[in-house]
Amino acid sequence: MGKGFFKVPPAINEPVLSYAPGSVERENVLKAYKYMYNSTIEVPIYINGKNIKTGKTQTMSPPHDHQHVVGIYHTANKSHVEQAISTALEARKTWSQLPWEQRAGIFLKAAELIAGPYRAKINAATMIAQSKTVHQAEIDAACEFIDFLRFNVQFMTEIYNDQPQSTNATWNRIEYRPLEGFTYAVTPFNFTAIAGNLPACMALMGNVVVWKPSDSQIYSAKVIMDVFEEAGVPAGVINVVFGDPVMITKTVLSSPDFSGLHFTGSTFIFKELWKQIGVNIHNYKTYPRIVGETGGKDFILAHQSAHPKQVATGIIRGAFEFQGQKCSAASRAYLPKSLWADIKAHLLEDLKSIKMGGPEDLSNFVTAVIHEGAFDKITGYIENTKSNPAVEIIAGGGYDKSKGYFIEPTVIVTTDAKYETMCTELFGPVITIFIYEDAAFEETLELIDQTSEYALTGAVFSTDRYAANVATRALENSAGNFYINDKPTGAVVGQQPFGGARASGTNDKAGSAQNLLRWVSPRMIKETFVTPEDYRYPFLD
Ligand code: NAD
Repeated sequence: MGKGFFKVPPAINEPVLSYAPGSVERENVLKAYKYMYNSTIEVPIYINGKNIKTGKTQTMSPPHDHQHVVGIYHTANKSHVEQAISTALEARKTWSQLPWEQRAGIFLKAAELIAGPYRAKINAATMIAQSKTVHQAEIDAACEFIDFLRFNVQFMTEIYNDQPQSTNATWNRIEYRPLEGFTYAVTPFNFTAIAGNLPACMALMGNVVVWKPSDSQIYSAKVIMDVFEEAGVPAGVINVVFGDPVMITKTVLSSPDFSGLHFTGSTFIFKELWKQIGVNIHNYKTYPRIVGETGGKDFILAHQSAHPKQVATGIIRGAFEFQGQKCSAASRAYLPKSLWADIKAHLLEDLKSIKMGGPEDLSNFVTAVIHEGAFDKITGYIENTKSNPAVEIIAGGGYDKSKGYFIEPTVIVTTDAKYETMCTELFGPVITIFIYEDAAFEETLELIDQTSEYALTGAVFSTDRYAANVATRALENSAGNFYINDKPTGAVVGQQPFGGARASGTNDKAGSAQNLLRWVSPRMIKETFVTPEDYRYPFLD
């Protein structure tokens, strides 16, 4: 920054709109949904600011109506990926030298575009592509994405402000340089905000990016690219390639200029990518940064002092919103015997009122799961339980994929605390409950800690402060985001920085300055004012 210490607008979380009957936002989103649902679009790949139609296409269909086509997208071949890399490296020459306030201006503008003219469109696209209810689309595609964009600008200035001490004789300065080379963003289907944030936050810090979105999120990724383009992201700074993930990733990770991976998705894939980076390590010009936020097997624990209705609500919202397809979704619960009858009654009562269907009907709380692969996997686990004497399905268990990939919110109760659905990430609307003896609270804490390879989110419900404290201490390494008397989902940017440890990821906390720090390589500059001209120190006399 040359001519002023500029202050950025203070970041404030975007208010979540209600979409209540009669509201303007409800009318706008339903209009956008109807229009988009009944038209078709063609999504190109984006290289050097150009829309490239490769001619090799795939269709896009909503998970809640899989025979209905809303468009096609073009897929990249190896030479497109190579072009994306070389164009990014070319763009780096100017982008990395652009003053930070210019980069900030672009992403603050993107936030405003989403908050205003693009809000209905990005929400409707997320309802269509990922089958989110309007509320789930609003908290993700609009609010969380806006928050990422605004808060990241504030975090960037906090990082830049972090400077070492100087003396009268020397002036010490740190420059937060972007990584040398290009970065790679690989994003999951389940959050439009994550899809936009992963490439955007690296670009904000001065990096250039090759971005590979999930095949199941391309319809809403297109809106993100439209926003970036209108906000003024220059050609070549964020290049988007769709298609074969193995080929794209292999091509990217083989480049000597690869300098950072920003991944969100499943644990197995992340480990595979890490392995490939390891194999290529001797070819890289710099040690690549590796950030990955991955799977979870998130828990709810109730102490005997908890309120049964609060626990039941935490389970319903935590396990079944967005069909349990949040990395933070509650998928195992540990409930005390003394409260079980009450909690069960509330759960069954609430579940009776839950409607399932397409997101265009705003009275539906549950919609479809993302694709046939997910449907088959989740229903396979449900079927297994039906023949196992250690488990009982007390609610749901039904499914139907004739029109969309619909699975009823399903509650399994098990007497086997290590039953497969207590340990494995299903990523669907299924929760498994284990009932423990009230006196076995502390053993149950150990059980929770030892049951799964993951450590993403977890919640304890307790009105007893001592019990809450014991749980908080015992579960220190069991969750990167730990909740007391709340469901384990719904982290808000700037309020609850998000990420887990163990197999759940590198815990670089999306929604905080810690994440942005991974995308810079500080350069220390020491300037001495009166430079010594004699090598001898006084002690030598
Ligand atoms: P996924 O792992 O199937 O896909 C993620 C990305 O990796 C996609 O872009 C996909 O195309 C790509 N990919 C898939 N196979 C690949 C391969 N062999 N080589 C290179 N890239 C490959 O995950 P998903 O189904 O899109 O998302 C769900 C998963 O993401 C869950 O495990 C969930 O817990 C996790 N998730 C974690 C967080 C978090 O913050 N911890 C947030 C959202 C989602």
